[in-house]
Amino acid sequence: MPAVAGLSPETLAKYQAVIGLEVHVQLLTRSKAFCGCKNEYGGDPNTHTCPTCLGLPGALPVLNRQAVEFAVLASKALGCTINERSIFARKNYFYPDSPKGYQISQFDKPLAEHGLMMVTDAENNPKRIGITRVHMEEDAGKSIHDGFADSVTRTYIDLNRCGTPLIEIVSEPDLRSAEEVFEYLTKLKEILLYTGVSDCNMEEGSLRCDANVSVMLKSDWEARGAAAYGTKAEVKNVNSFRFIRSAVEFEIERQISVIEEGGRVVQESRLWNNAEGRTYSMRSKEQAHDYRYFPEPDLPALVVGEQWLKDILSNLPELPEARRARLQSEYGLSAQDAATLTTDRELGDLFQQAAKLAKSPKRVASILLSEITMRLRAGELALGQSPVSLDGLVLASDLTEGGAISSKQLKQLLDSCFAEGKDFGYIYDRDKPQQISDSSAIETMIDEVIAANPAQVAQFKGGKRTVSAFFVGQVMKASKGQANPALLNELVLRKLDEA
Ligand code: ADP
Ligand code: MG
Ligand code: ZN
Repeated sequence: MPAVAGLSPETLAKYQAVIGLEVHVQLLTRSKAFCGCKNEYGGDPNTHTCPTCLGLPGALPVLNRQAVEFAVLASKALGCTINERSIFARKNYFYPDSPKGYQISQFDKPLAEHGLMMVTDAENNPKRIGITRVHMEEDAGKSIHDGFADSVTRTYIDLNRCGTPLIEIVSEPDLRSAEEVFEYLTKLKEILLYTGVSDCNMEEGSLRCDANVSVMLKSDWEARGAAAYGTKAEVKNVNSFRFIRSAVEFEIERQISVIEEGGRVVQESRLWNNAEGRTYSMRSKEQAHDYRYFPEPDLPALVVGEQWLKDILSNLPELPEARRARLQSEYGLSAQDAATLTTDRELGDLFQQAAKLAKSPKRVASILLSEITMRLRAGELALGQSPVSLDGLVLASDLTEGGAISSKQLKQLLDSCFAEGKDFGYIYDRDKPQQISDSSAIETMIDEVIAANPAQVAQFKGGKRTVSAFFVGQVMKASKGQANPALLNELVLRKLDEA
């Protein structure tokens, strides 16, 4: 349904949306980009500061080596070419939360260029989104507009964030829909989390996205391609991927309706108002940028030589896409399971370790993806807080796979693990579930279930052998989950064949 009233699907279909993203990511270094101050979210206002990040006269910046290494790792993970030599530049503008009056950034010689991200287009085909560049820069402080008794008349400034190392990741205008934007951002975050360069915490502003949106008539698009790009508006400061998707959707439709009404889209920055589900124009003054970039005279060129680059890249982990493909071919997992296991690097690591130790990797995957994940979610726990250790997972998997415990017993044992915060091995030793491995006892139960369900027996005899699962389930229930599953399966089939 259109987000803007009065636009028909036919009207929307006449237009082509064009979107490019600029994403800012804070790097997880211990100190700031150009001084020794703590790089940490929060803290009492204006306590993580020094003459350098306060921009006091005479203070000089010194580049943080770790920040460069993180920036290089992220760039490489995004398929970029690393420029051996890049140049820091001053981006001049006045803003109260930036005491120097400029931001140290990179301009015409960025750290990295020509990257690539894959998304899925509307026809479900893979599609390449170019990454124009990744450059290093520093964050500004924060203006605090509310929360004080005199907030109506005053704005307060906290400079703790000043000088936090950032990378800016700029995409080509290759995205064509809000869905593609959502996927691009989701994958970007996944990759950055794998490399460990940022926590990507959007609530704390560790990852921030500006979306540049324009629209054009499809007829022009087909005739002239990129030469006909329309005027773009930039949607700033949206702090969740879902909101960005809504904001882009809204913005596309807003621009279409402006054009349909005979107006012209103006180049401007707009703010997303989530409560109202629409964007608003920001002050028009902010549109006319003249940053008067020039090379930062206080910093030499950044040179990432061959050996240093090699050292940095030795820390590049296997990335999610590659891991997904490998889990499928190595362990025969479904695409869906492989995808879920790799959305989070820790979960993927745990699976791989357990899969090496356990009898059945597929069993490990299923326990991890259903039983463990479900209980973590119910308890609002992170994977690192799970009471079930690697060894516990392997034991649970092997016992279930070997038929020593039924899946119902597994569930009960795991319930106890999570309720008591104890590992699986401990609970299993303590509660060793009773198992009925006496065939005559199981056979008696099977006979009863067969006698009670003649219709299903007839189906089985008619060739529908999968009906045996129904009998297994019924007997398992009657045994309160204690029948030995392997034995039960075997006996059910035999009895049905004899029936
Ligand atoms: P600016 O100089 O206004 O910041 P850039 O050329 O640096 O513009 O591009 C900034 C971002 O805007 C990039 O992500 C780019 O892909 C995107 N972009 C450029 N032109 C368009 C357009 N016509 N429509 C949508 N996005 C665009
Ligand atoms: Mg820009
Ligand atoms: Zn400092």
